[in-house]
Amino acid sequence: ATPTAVMVGTGRAAELGILIGDGQALEQARRLTAVVLDKTGTITRGRPAVTAVTTRGGWTDDAVLALVAAAEAGSEHPLGEALLAAARERGLALPGVTAFEALPGRGITATVGGRALRVGNRALVGEPTGLTAAADAAARDGATPVYVAVDGEPVAVLAVADPVRPESAEAVAQLRALGLEVWMLTGDTEATARAIAVRVGIEHVRAEVRPAQKAEAVAALQAEGHVVAMCGDGINDAPALARADLGIAVGTGTDVAIAASDVTLVGGDLRGIVAAIALSRRTVTTIR
Ligand code: ADP
Ligand code: MG
Repeated sequence: ATPTAVMVGTGRAAELGILIGDGQALEQARRLTAVVLDKTGTITRGRPAVTAVTTRGGWTDDAVLALVAAAEAGSEHPLGEALLAAARERGLALPGVTAFEALPGRGITATVGGRALRVGNRALVGEPTGLTAAADAAARDGATPVYVAVDGEPVAVLAVADPVRPESAEAVAQLRALGLEVWMLTGDTEATARAIAVRVGIEHVRAEVRPAQKAEAVAALQAEGHVVAMCGDGINDAPALARADLGIAVGTGTDVAIAASDVTLVGGDLRGIVAAIALSRRTVTTIR
């Protein structure tokens, strides 16, 4: 590509809210055969809210929420923000926290009011004795079940739902119409991921993927001969974004994701991927 042609191409893209790093990125977009989409914050808005609280062992909703929110105040994860917001809405007083630790892709641990708290996925928190039905119901609805244990005892499951972006289904349909294989990659549970995938028309799902494995999943597709675009918003997506043939950051996500990417969708509209591919095909044609 001549510098001039690339400038014309990327200038047009900027009007559509797509920032393209360099001409090489535009050329890669033309060669793509697979697009991998992160779920939380990419296919969904990344603005989750607590939709249900189920407790056991004499715990009240408020008592659990106060402990969880106090601990999550130290977290930068959208789920943590949702849990904190739920406690604020209820006007709950938050106890003091020591020994906070974030475990990326799993949850958090902390000591709150002298009690050992674990908040996160099932792998971190353990078998939710007496709460399985609540967890299953949340996942079937496409919500994330957040498990809570106090001093090693399961005490609650919170359902946290993140609405699907209104353009996601259309973007997936357009990508598939262009002949691309569309994948969903998420650290979330299988059942939650499947429920969201059905809603947006994605067939290929890999769930319960740890952050380090996201890049491996991209590499596996490349090993099959695919030219892969990865689109994500989170710190946990950065290695996969860097590994992909084309890294596409959701502009409403973290700076780390944007820095690891070749392309940024400023407003997070996934149809921007389709526009970038169409643009690359046009631009490359023009300069030949
Ligand atoms: P995604 O790939 O969907 O963006 P992550 O890899 O960030 O998700 O997290 C995977 C899972 O780990 C989440 O679905 C959630 O169950 C759990 N998790 C991660 N961080 C937190 C947190 N701060 N609080 C509660 N649960 C968490
Ligand atoms: Mg995400």
